Amino acid sequence: MSDALALFERSGALLRGHFTYTSGRHGAEYLEKFRLLEDPKATTALCGMIAARFAGAGVELVAGPTTGGIILAHEVARQLGVRAVYAERGETGNRVLRRGFRVRPGERVLVVDDIVTTGGSLRDTLACMETAGGTVVGVGVLGDRTGGRLEVGVPFFACLTVDFPSYAPAECPQCAAGIAVSAPRGSGAASAVR
Ligand SMILES: [Zn+2]
Repeated sequence: MSDALALFERSGALLRGHFTYTSGRHGAEYLEKFRLLEDPKATTALCGMIAARFAGAGVELVAGPTTGGIILAHEVARQLGVRAVYAERGETGNRVLRRGFRVRPGERVLVVDDIVTTGGSLRDTLACMETAGGTVVGVGVLGDRTGGRLEVGVPFFACLTVDFPSYAPAECPQCAAGIAVSAPRGSGAASAVR
């Protein structure tokens, strides 16, 4: 078992049951990022893997999307000895810098995020940092749900890469066995059933 997987399991972030993902498909595993983020020791250890991967990349600023990205950017930046900012949702669902956060022209930015499923919020954060004038030199995430298929155009590191089998409800073995779909947990249905 990888160190990262052990940390996900120990903090209770790897759930097993019968879940509906945001795609509408069903599966037996689910990563609940907030079980990790409420565990500072596990979060610090995983952020340490990201910091170690990009220690030689000349990172000057770490940025992440709200909500998990606030915590992760802060901890990775603390370990690298640089600044941290976070990108919030803008009017059109894009990502924007508020709070007076500034990026110097050409500043070398590491983008971090918790669990990547579609890469949407990650791409929006990359676009936000480039619009702000930064140069994104890498992306680090806690968990990659795409099985390593995500393309972000810069060096990418995931502490844990998974590819959970998923099924159309009509073909779901748990549905066929009459097992009820697990109730959403964590931050609410919208994010719990990703
Ligand atoms: Zn099912």
